[in-house]
Amino acid sequence: MSGKKFSLTTPIYYVNGLPHIGHSYSTIAADALARYHRLAGEAVYFQTGADLHGEKVQGAAEDAGETPAHFAARVSDIWQSTWDRLDIRYDRFIRTTDADHRRAVAKIANAIHDAGQIEFREYEGLYCVGCERFLTDRDTKDGLCRDHETKPEARREANYFFKMSEHFDWLARELERHPELIEPERYRNEVLAMIREGSGLEDLCISRPKERLSWGIELPFDSNYVCYVWFDALVNYLSGCGWPDKPDWEARWRACTHLIGKDILKPHGVFWPTMLHAAGLPLFRGLRVHGHWQVEARKVSKSLGNMIDPLRMKARYGFEPFRYFLLREMSFGLDGSFNEDAMIERANAQLSNALGNLLSRTLNMTARYCEGVVPEPDDDGPDETVLRDACAAAATAVDHHLRRFELHRALEAVFQLVDAANRYIDRREPWKAARTAARAGELRTTLASACRALRSIGLLLAPFLPEASAELLRRLGLGDALRNARLPDDAARWNMLIPGTPTSKGDALFPRLERQDDD
Ligand SMILES: [Zn+2]
Repeated sequence: MSGKKFSLTTPIYYVNGLPHIGHSYSTIAADALARYHRLAGEAVYFQTGADLHGEKVQGAAEDAGETPAHFAARVSDIWQSTWDRLDIRYDRFIRTTDADHRRAVAKIANAIHDAGQIEFREYEGLYCVGCERFLTDRDTKDGLCRDHETKPEARREANYFFKMSEHFDWLARELERHPELIEPERYRNEVLAMIREGSGLEDLCISRPKERLSWGIELPFDSNYVCYVWFDALVNYLSGCGWPDKPDWEARWRACTHLIGKDILKPHGVFWPTMLHAAGLPLFRGLRVHGHWQVEARKVSKSLGNMIDPLRMKARYGFEPFRYFLLREMSFGLDGSFNEDAMIERANAQLSNALGNLLSRTLNMTARYCEGVVPEPDDDGPDETVLRDACAAAATAVDHHLRRFELHRALEAVFQLVDAANRYIDRREPWKAARTAARAGELRTTLASACRALRSIGLLLAPFLPEASAELLRRLGLGDALRNARLPDDAARWNMLIPGTPTSKGDALFPRLERQDDD
């Protein structure tokens, strides 16, 4: 361990619905990043989870004829088992009903209350059940909630308010001083616009009267109220890091980056940092924001039935083509577009053809001409030098891009190396060298170099395509390679594959896909 820490969170998903393509992307991207940082020797903490409280869950439970507690626990289990079945390697799946989380929420509410930052106010306004909050003029258009396109209800209520707006100047200064706090930059600018004077964003109502909503965490200073769902949910990031009891909570917390979709920028970019500031707590390290997915050129919605269940994708095509498509297709920060035919096309072109063929022709020729073992190469010539440099360049690029959350560019760099290795074989034409005994040295050098490039590719693919990477390395006779690997340096090393290592051909790494509409 280098002692370097890396903590990463996904949003905790709301249990009034089931996992769709947007949740899948957040979780898969976080999993790939966590895997990379583990392979880089860092102390990684990766958390995902479920948000169980709130009005929408209470309503969904009523519709299902269950108690909110039973309903929320049951649906949380579905979320957790979905990620388990997709081999998402989280360290903790947190639930907002967990005892340590409930204590942390009470503690932070008390801290903000003690600091004089919470006020009891009578309030009258337009309330959106979808948003679970009162709307401002800016939140409505033609009398309808902008987000939900539904008519808000007139409500009069006495509630507790967090004096959030008192922290806007501080937050603006903080974002100017530390631009890396929210990236990509467009989202930092969006947050700055939200807190600019006259933007309509004011203080935050943080309570709900129990007579209306009983399903939540009770406010520690007034048992007639429960916490507003965001005020409860955001604290999960701190409770997961062990705040306030665990001795190492602060180191883990200061290394903590939140990965979110742009729809929840406001709570994460405004509510959360101001809550932390009011409670006298340090900020998270960073907020990284990705865009939305469109499916078949339309917005994802329950009514359109285009949610894209990741388990169904796995059943139809195997999980890694889907995982690959999401990570490669979306430019992190911008919106992405999913369509099943495009996924199949990408998988066939890049996974079956480019990568699969590189592996199968290298190992087939190794079996045929070199008795299935990695041959002893001669000294590198100009072609080998180009390929060796391409391995080093890919390793550097993957590290650079992943540390900037540019997963698509990191994957692009790996597949540039795949293309370079295929070009190398095409140029060297080992099948011709195999016909002449005098060219035996050239043949051995070519196949050994192709195996070396495949070793780098296998290591670099581990965060993105863990199953395929493990299988590729196993066929190269490197079944243990990932256990001791240290990225990116090990992937840049050229002379690590020992001549004489037995290889195995195997079946197609990625069989060609055809469109399935079986269900
Ligand atoms: Zn709304």
